[in-house]
Amino acid sequence: MKTLRLILGDQLNIKHSWFKDTDDEVLYCMFEMRQETDYVKHHIQKVIGFFSAMRQFHLDLTSNGHDVIYFKINDDKNTQSLIDNLSKLIDSHQISNFEYLFPDEYRLDEQLKSFCSTIKISSKAVSTEHFYTNREDLKTFFKGKKQYLMENFYRDMRKKHDILMVSDQPEGGKWNYDKSNRNKWKGEVEIPNYKLFKNDVTEIVENIKNTDIKTIGKFETKTFSYPISRIQALEQLKYFCEHLLIHFGDYQDAMHTDEDYLFHSRLSFAMNLKLISPKDIVKTVMNYYRKHGDTIAISQVEGFVRQVIGWREYMRGMYWAFMPEYKSLNELNNQNNLPEFFWTGNTKMNCLKHAIANSLNNSYAHHIQRLMITGNYALLTQTNPDEVDAWYLGVYIDAVEWVQLTNTRGMSQFADGGKIATKPYVSSGSYINKMSNYCSNCHYNKSKKTEDDACPFNSLYWNFLDEKREYLRNNFRMGMMYSLLDKMDNNQLKKIKDKAQHIIAHQDEY
Ligand code: FAD
Ligand code: SF4
Repeated sequence: MKTLRLILGDQLNIKHSWFKDTDDEVLYCMFEMRQETDYVKHHIQKVIGFFSAMRQFHLDLTSNGHDVIYFKINDDKNTQSLIDNLSKLIDSHQISNFEYLFPDEYRLDEQLKSFCSTIKISSKAVSTEHFYTNREDLKTFFKGKKQYLMENFYRDMRKKHDILMVSDQPEGGKWNYDKSNRNKWKGEVEIPNYKLFKNDVTEIVENIKNTDIKTIGKFETKTFSYPISRIQALEQLKYFCEHLLIHFGDYQDAMHTDEDYLFHSRLSFAMNLKLISPKDIVKTVMNYYRKHGDTIAISQVEGFVRQVIGWREYMRGMYWAFMPEYKSLNELNNQNNLPEFFWTGNTKMNCLKHAIANSLNNSYAHHIQRLMITGNYALLTQTNPDEVDAWYLGVYIDAVEWVQLTNTRGMSQFADGGKIATKPYVSSGSYINKMSNYCSNCHYNKSKKTEDDACPFNSLYWNFLDEKREYLRNNFRMGMMYSLLDKMDNNQLKKIKDKAQHIIAHQDEY
């Protein structure tokens, strides 16, 4: 009985129990496909990253003695479709059993379920053995509850996995050090050089060009700098512990014109492809903290752990709890288009110019750039969430749908009406000024609202609150802002709204 086992591009878990032993009766298959390169326009570094990590994984499996069929994007035998490739291999290799790892994306899950219902051989799906939680765990945890509060889920994860706990109490006396994670970085603490790998991707770049895959963004060096194997991911993690963890929490929400990464780990790509697991990461960070607790404060570690066992697992659970409906939610009924400058960075708004440049140059932006610069702007300009999703899904190296969609449509665009975020993440220029140095060199003045050189975020902010009154007025966390809006002089509000409407209608001029 010969078994065919499928490995998708984001299932590169070399520690999976499938690979413990070799078996002559098992054939693995991996495909680079147009089906995956073309469903949205991806950043060139994202395509390079996926293909190079997949090719490396293929090499690692074969050198461990496994039998693997690998179709490169330009192979003649490659039909470019998952189902056609699988069907052909099943026929040509007399396969009598098909197995796959549960996909993390709804689209692929449906495709494979439907494929299995049509084939005449036996089939089964097994866990990727990557996450802490199963797909359904979050739904079960929140059953019967009105709100899906991340904080409750996170505390439960801490207790269940005994992370930063002293018996049943949080270590240090607090569950959450969010309030000490809000420093502005002013250059007072030196940021070490980034750990950049030098993976040779010349062949992949040629393959992308020759097959005419349409991409966005830049790739100007000859080497790919993100980790593409478990070994490299572990090196990146070690680097993070030794150089960045010490200030991770302090500057988690900071932004700066000269610093693309600050103290962020750049581990999301490796984690989302499953080169490394969240358990590996938390265990290593905790061990490092235990040895260096005299120099590293608990707030740095808790801030990091919260992202990995809290937000990341929570987002995955929310995705499976609410798909497929989630993908078309637009509770605020936003219908505008994204401006052209999201693809060029060509805007006079300094904060957007930097956040977009980081995205286009590095296929990366850190969380606060995604949430409080590009996301904030898209929401204030009342952009259709379908367009916002397509941009985020395309531009970031770590963008896979289960985590991109929930972060973008949910946390950032409030299009789910508040399932994920308890209030919309919107702000005027003053928040951006508080957390960054963007405003000091901007064409616009952060303190003005309606003048020619007024910061666009200011009028957009009040206009947004006014326009979305019917959806947000009763949100208890918005009460203070609505009482300020209610007190605003009518003439002043009209001026602000006129200004905001002008910006929305002429976004590429700002
Ligand atoms: P660090 O700041 O070093 O954080 C450590 C790890 O925590 C990350 O690697 C990531 O795995 C996890 N993490 C942190 N925040 C989140 C979060 N909100 N949700 C899930 N995991 C989190 N993350 C993605 O992995 N893929 C996406 O497509 C993605 N899209 C986003 C879109 C928007 C609008 C926003 C606001 C956030 C998005 N995020 C996404 C979450 C977060 O911005 C990235 O995980 C993070 O910037 C990756 O960089 P890092 O590895 O240096 O993270
Ligand atoms: Fe952005 Fe306004 Fe600050 Fe300029 S002044 S950087 S547009 S927030």
